[in-house]
Amino acid sequence: MTSFRDLPIRRDLREQEPYGAPQLSVPYQLNVNENTFGIPSEVSERIVSRITEVVPKLNRYPDREFMELRGALAGFLGNGLTANNVWAANGSNEVLMQIFQAFGGPDASALSFGPTYSMYPNIARISLTPYQELARLDGFALTADYVASEIRKAKPNIVILCNPNNPTGTPIAKDVIAAAYDAFDGILVVDEAYAEFASDLSVLDLLPGRERLVISRTMSKAFAFAGVRLGYLAASEAVVDALRIVRLPYHLSTLTQAAALAALEFSDVMLANVEQIKIQRDRIVSELRGMGLQPYESAANFVLCAGFSDPAGTFTKLLDQGVLIRNVGIPNALRITAGTEAETDFLLAALRQTLS
Ligand SMILES: *Cc1c(COP(=O)(O)O)cnc(C)c1O
Repeated sequence: MTSFRDLPIRRDLREQEPYGAPQLSVPYQLNVNENTFGIPSEVSERIVSRITEVVPKLNRYPDREFMELRGALAGFLGNGLTANNVWAANGSNEVLMQIFQAFGGPDASALSFGPTYSMYPNIARISLTPYQELARLDGFALTADYVASEIRKAKPNIVILCNPNNPTGTPIAKDVIAAAYDAFDGILVVDEAYAEFASDLSVLDLLPGRERLVISRTMSKAFAFAGVRLGYLAASEAVVDALRIVRLPYHLSTLTQAAALAALEFSDVMLANVEQIKIQRDRIVSELRGMGLQPYESAANFVLCAGFSDPAGTFTKLLDQGVLIRNVGIPNALRITAGTEAETDFLLAALRQTLS
């Protein structure tokens, strides 16, 4: 049996491992920030009926420009956006990859502020884009002065800011994003994967007049649609045109388009549990604090918590009780997704038992 390392694989990939959190079939899966509420039955029915409509036409390639879906996504985002301002792919990871393919590459560079989403360095590597992650300030905060001065020094082609930030939950104030934009002439990507949990943080309203601003979104988190793989972005028409150069033809299947269109007809239903999830998130923060741990305030649907003397041990003991959380590699810290009230009850009881 030949290892992939024995093949003539790209030298920079030879020592890599496939990226991904453990996928384990346990009763409490609180590790990848999914919306743990299921799909409401009225939405399931609409998805099935829209898919039934397109199945006889699956001999044909999908609509390559997926204008109907882009229009529906623009309508969902509001802010005067049209289909021409929207682009989508199979998850926002693919959207981000296309941004790096179009605006990065070996002659360019990308910058972010960590700890942040661990796929950024991966996407940079795969797209051969040199990537630098500068430290955040105390409490993982970012200020306009700090971000702008570091961007001016580094002169990157791409800056990517995650708002609210994964894995820390930290919000970024609007003036920081505006200052970042003004500090260079490259592409500023704001990853709003968790925006629906903190709608006042979204910078969609900064788009007019900012041709190099890209706002990345996903249906995987608040929208409870991770299995469909639908990520999207809002930007100037020029940015969208650039992405159409690097996208593979027909990258978004007819089935994906049909399912996403059905779900968008019911966006209020799909997002109905957001407030409940925020209540559980805040409850996790206060209960963990009561256990003597140091949770960070979060604007997303997860909580990063420090103060674990043995995070790997706690992770394993929770897993033994059927609770899967995430060890994100931050010293003494673990990340927990906020789910239903019942899931939170079980998680907190299991954690109490683990720590006692
Ligand atoms: C989950 C996540 C994404 C990617 O989600 P997709 O499922 O690929 O849409 C992007 N950015 C951040 C910060 C995330 O946490």
